[in-house]
Amino acid sequence: MAADSPNRAERMFKRVLIANRGEIALRVIRACRELGVETVAIFSEADRGAPYLEMADEAICVGPAKAADSYLRIDRVISAAEIGNVQAIHPGYGFLSENAHFAEVCRSCNIGFIGPTPEAMAKVGDKTSARNLAREAGVPCVPGSNGIIGSEDEAIRVAREVGFPVLLKATAGGGGKGMRVAVDDAALIPAWQQASAEAQAAFGNPGIYIERYVDRPRHVEVQILGDQHGTMLHLWERDCSTQRRHQKLIEESPSPRLAPATRKAMCEAAVRLAKVAGYHSAGTVEFIVDQQGNFYFIEINARIQVEHPVSEMVTGIDLVKAQIRIAAGEKLGLEQKDVVARGHAIECRINAEDPAANFRPCPGRIEQIIAPGGFGVRFDSHAAAGYVVPPHYDSLVGKLIVHQPTRTEAIATMIRALRELRIQGIKTTVPLHLDILSHSAFRDAEIDTKFVERWLAG
Ligand code: ADP
Repeated sequence: MAADSPNRAERMFKRVLIANRGEIALRVIRACRELGVETVAIFSEADRGAPYLEMADEAICVGPAKAADSYLRIDRVISAAEIGNVQAIHPGYGFLSENAHFAEVCRSCNIGFIGPTPEAMAKVGDKTSARNLAREAGVPCVPGSNGIIGSEDEAIRVAREVGFPVLLKATAGGGGKGMRVAVDDAALIPAWQQASAEAQAAFGNPGIYIERYVDRPRHVEVQILGDQHGTMLHLWERDCSTQRRHQKLIEESPSPRLAPATRKAMCEAAVRLAKVAGYHSAGTVEFIVDQQGNFYFIEINARIQVEHPVSEMVTGIDLVKAQIRIAAGEKLGLEQKDVVARGHAIECRINAEDPAANFRPCPGRIEQIIAPGGFGVRFDSHAAAGYVVPPHYDSLVGKLIVHQPTRTEAIATMIRALRELRIQGIKTTVPLHLDILSHSAFRDAEIDTKFVERWLAG
């Protein structure tokens, strides 16, 4: 995206509201600052006085600590946008970011939504509908049902066809909720009922579909970026196989040990799918890769992801600034050949959790924090000395990102930076990351989505 694009000055927003909190709110504030855009932050009572709010031009309280009464309240967020007199809203990730109704309300209030259209979001947000789009775009899906399972007979027929074990997944799913593995006929119906009840409770939608359970897969996702003028590009892939209970811990780019032909095919598949969906803005097309190197589409995330910095580091493209410019109507001004991935980037999620006590959340006051620095190190965090990590939201206190010419060097830099990072007052996942990065399986890139759990169990 050319900084001097001719239509830039008259199109860019004057003021943007950030409908989020924590590190991503700060990330968006920083991008706006650099673009010369004023910012309005929102906060709940639990986040009142948080240091990152001072970085915004204005901060407006939207309600009590409980997210359902504040960050998730569309009426309150829209009121804050009216009071703050903004032209657009950046939703960050989580909260309202993938709520098509919210995007629709923004449109009807004449407030720009920094993300895809509500129509595209609705299409890709429903997982069975996204699977259909993938098929239409010629993108391989995990073998499974054609849509939502309607009866016990159908569940058994499909599961036998694709072969046990199978995974029952919620069509409205996210965050690993509403997912169950079934190993045989007897386990299938109870698993379906449990998954369905969990999906109803979490998403208000009980619909469940079936996929073959892929043994020891890798999670590889493609970053896409498209404008409103028909350009859709990919920013290569991220490997997020280092997870625990479907929660990502470490992300890296490029994906180690991915055959070049597979990498190219996946990235091209992601672009085809985004085009079929009529998608624009930043998004992520997630795949799993089996032990034989076959890749299968699993879902699309219609938002900026937590792990977006690794793609930024290898491509040199600021995804959040790009999102804002795209929403303002600017052209991307890039072609696929301009998106060159250089070196290797790794991100560690620093959570306020105690890895030694079964990852118990550890909210509380940060007495002191010393951020690491030096060549190739980036620390995205809203935490500061005296900051109290509230117990009401996710436990992410920061993301440590490194970028070096090779994976081996990136691992060495990450270990050095993790040792420099001092957070006193709360327990964090820093010791876990140091262990994983020193583990031979990780160093040899012998990773799959279950390797951390196997290692922790052992
Ligand atoms: P959610 O949206 O709830 O996070 P996903 O579809 O993204 O659900 O899947 C989350 C994780 O579950 C993936 O990263 C992968 O580890 C695992 N997973 C998903 N589908 C399969 C499958 N068919 N076989 C094996 N593992 C899977």
